[in-house]
Amino acid sequence: MKIFIQKNLNEKKINELFERPAQKNNSTIVIVKKIIDDVKKNGHQSVIKYAKKYDGLNGDSILISKNILVEQAEKINVELKNSIDKAYENIYKFHSLQYPKSISVETMKGIECQKKYLPIENVGLYIPGGSAVLFSTLLMLAIPAKIAGCKRIVVCSPVKNEINSALAYVATKIGIDEFYSVGGAHAIAMMAYGTEKVKKVDKIFGPGNQYVTLAKTLVSNDYNGSSVDMPAGPSEVLVIADKFANPKYVAADLLSQAEHGIDSQVILLTNEIEFARKVLSEINLQIKNLPRRKIVEACLINSFILVVNNLDDAIQLSNNYAPEHLIINTKNFKSLAKKIKNAGSVFLGGYSPESVGDYASGTNHSLPTYGYAKAIGGVDILSFMKSISFQTLTKNGLKNISSTVVKMAEEEKLNAHANAVKVRLK
Ligand code: NAD
Repeated sequence: MKIFIQKNLNEKKINELFERPAQKNNSTIVIVKKIIDDVKKNGHQSVIKYAKKYDGLNGDSILISKNILVEQAEKINVELKNSIDKAYENIYKFHSLQYPKSISVETMKGIECQKKYLPIENVGLYIPGGSAVLFSTLLMLAIPAKIAGCKRIVVCSPVKNEINSALAYVATKIGIDEFYSVGGAHAIAMMAYGTEKVKKVDKIFGPGNQYVTLAKTLVSNDYNGSSVDMPAGPSEVLVIADKFANPKYVAADLLSQAEHGIDSQVILLTNEIEFARKVLSEINLQIKNLPRRKIVEACLINSFILVVNNLDDAIQLSNNYAPEHLIINTKNFKSLAKKIKNAGSVFLGGYSPESVGDYASGTNHSLPTYGYAKAIGGVDILSFMKSISFQTLTKNGLKNISSTVVKMAEEEKLNAHANAVKVRLK
């Protein structure tokens, strides 16, 4: 991980620094398109083919039965079970408060307009399982899906050999009926288009690597495909810290995201060169004890420390990058927080490591990457619902609004629209 100095760089160089690694990879699109087309054309057999190729599936079945889920769930150790139960409680608490209220208003005499929120019936949840089994993601997605009232919840995850007991425990605790051992772009294609064995879903959720994320984007652009939550790709964290922060904490936070994958990116913006050096030497110390050291080292090649002119510049650069995770570990974090415009999830002060939001504080960890935080937020209850508007007009209500509608419709030369009003008032 290198240290750069803002005042020594021109704008072009700064933009290059902030480029996400996964976006530089053009070969992914060719691979992902081929997989999707194959699943669309050949259905279940091609899902099996890719599951064998990429994840070493044995046999021809990807459905994990309820019996197996229960059997595996029973193997979980008590401490982990208690931790999951605590996380479940907090996530449930935070998300249940988000349930939207339907509204009803008389906009004019005799005109009643309503907006109702209903659950999306069929949802597909992707749980990453390539380099680590992210059972926490199942909590983050299935809890809001259940609170929203989704009827059918399909889960896909590339399970290696037998299903991890924590993942099985979460699945049984939440009550998942359809669990498939399949990952990657083929899992997304299977959920989006359906096959002979698996019915299609209406919306796909979940983070994943660049193959998964690109597949989600492609199926959501096809109206025979499926809608998706957001592009939640390789993890990112941007930390803004000053000399009042503990370099050990900052280094630990950066490393915690770097271990996600080689295509992740971690960034530190600080106004002190001395502090930057301290963090770097802490990184070099702490990295030695990490079991995923190889992944971390590869990620750090795409990552950097930038010594900024001042903390306001740091906020501006961060708003421009729109990180998935933003940690502000400065003395004046409260005033800096007011200037945040774009970020997926924000962690404030020296005692708010991103890890707590990843697992258990209550907020959701399925968040927009690639800068999409400029326009969308992370997964919440509304992500699992859609709204429908209703209106009921009395005859007087229609009279009250008729001239307004007729005038506008005739101006747009949509005379049939105008007629649909006039014909009722004759
Ligand atoms: P994954 O389940 O997303 O991907 C693994 C699958 O990718 C494999 O099952 C395989 O089918 C497919 N694959 C692997 N190599 C391939 C290749 N060469 N060609 C075609 N397909 C291939 O698991 P992962 O790889 O561990 O990635 C998880 C990702 O999720 C990480 O990048 C992590 O940063 C990200 N993440 C993001 C968020 C968020 O909210 N944005 C949250 C958690 C995790």
